Amino acid sequence: MSEQHQNLAVIGHVDHGKSTLVGRLLYETGSVPEHVIEQHREEAEEKGKGGFEFAYVMDNLAEERERGVTIDIAHQEFTTDEYDFTIVDCPGHRDFVKNMITGASQADNAVLVVAADDGVAPQTQEHVFLARTLGIDELIIGVNKMDVVDYKESTYDDVVEEVTQLLKQVQFNTEDASFIPISAFEGDNIAEASDNTPWYDGETLLEALNSLPAPQPPTDAPLRLPIQDVYTISGIGTVPVGRIETGIMNIGDNVSFQPSDVGGEVKTIEMHHEEVPKAEPGDNVGFNVRGIGKDDIRRGDVCGPADDPPSVAETFQAQIVVMQHPSVITAGYTPVFHAHTAQVACTIESIDKKMDPASGEVAEENPDFIQSGDAAVVTIRPQKPLSIEPSSEIPELGSFAIRDMGQTIAAGKVLEVHDK
Ligand code: GDP
Repeated sequence: MSEQHQNLAVIGHVDHGKSTLVGRLLYETGSVPEHVIEQHREEAEEKGKGGFEFAYVMDNLAEERERGVTIDIAHQEFTTDEYDFTIVDCPGHRDFVKNMITGASQADNAVLVVAADDGVAPQTQEHVFLARTLGIDELIIGVNKMDVVDYKESTYDDVVEEVTQLLKQVQFNTEDASFIPISAFEGDNIAEASDNTPWYDGETLLEALNSLPAPQPPTDAPLRLPIQDVYTISGIGTVPVGRIETGIMNIGDNVSFQPSDVGGEVKTIEMHHEEVPKAEPGDNVGFNVRGIGKDDIRRGDVCGPADDPPSVAETFQAQIVVMQHPSVITAGYTPVFHAHTAQVACTIESIDKKMDPASGEVAEENPDFIQSGDAAVVTIRPQKPLSIEPSSEIPELGSFAIRDMGQTIAAGKVLEVHDK
């Protein structure tokens, strides 16, 4: 068993084999849910086949998909020698952007699936660009469906070359990318080195997953705790609650809430109904601060050290990707921004640059408008005070979703904050 946790995104063009690969990983690591195994053990025995095979796992995933149950590949879990992996939402999944912003699907690393018989396709480019924008550390590229191309080394080499070019275009460090010829369907080079690819002597996919770098817990960064709710509890007083995104909170620390701009000394910290002396990233805590009343602070405030308080933006510059918008976005547009627990109307004051999503390079300076599919650098003015951080310094507090008309229309990360 392993203790270290990794959030893994599985990305790639539709039909290149993402679901099949996830099914294969679940199967090879013995992580198929017990009820699925039971169901198919019986079925297999009835049919006189005995045991159960990978095909049954895939049948089940497919069946669930047909029934419209949302158990597709997201949120599946499997364990390797080194890590507990959770597959997080993949780009294209309905709630991907929303979950990405709320932190539910912050992936540490990603597997990019590229079908050997198709090579780089439109969504391959899009997902690689998103992976880079979202700060994926390492990419494992599974060149899939090698069985379809008769395990030909030259075809594999061509795909590796094509993907390497794409990574260079979006300035993804190619040293942080490893390539493996696989067949998700047949199981080649997933758990065991395949006899079908004698020309390949690199890692299997499971070995590559095991040798991913461990995610660094964000304890070095200053304390940032976005407030979810504020309660009044008899005997204690005002208790703000939230999840620590970065840093450590200790009893006795002097803290500051921004943008409400109040502060004091931490008197108690409670976690799982028990008092604790300190709390760390990922901990959901309720705490009490000397002198702070219920009306002094609110949801959307961020708590941080008094001597390194959360930033409050007068304006900020951000890189955004427009996912879906019925018309065009121009300067002056004022949708609602969702950043950590805050929801604040913000005006896109200027559209500074339009980027080429495939290459990440500037396509146009000061464009008149942007639309679905575009990536751009924009300057944003919150209509009410908003605490937000540059993504390069505190990524956990540096991204946001833009929502309008009941849907997520864009997502972005903060490049620079211009303080009040
Ligand atoms: P996704 O859209 O990326 O999730 O792709 P799927 O996993 O649904 O796979 C699309 C199709 O490709 C399905 O019919 C799979 O059976 C098939 N497929 C996936 N991986 C392989 C593979 O390694 N070899 C072969 N021959 N077919 C595969």
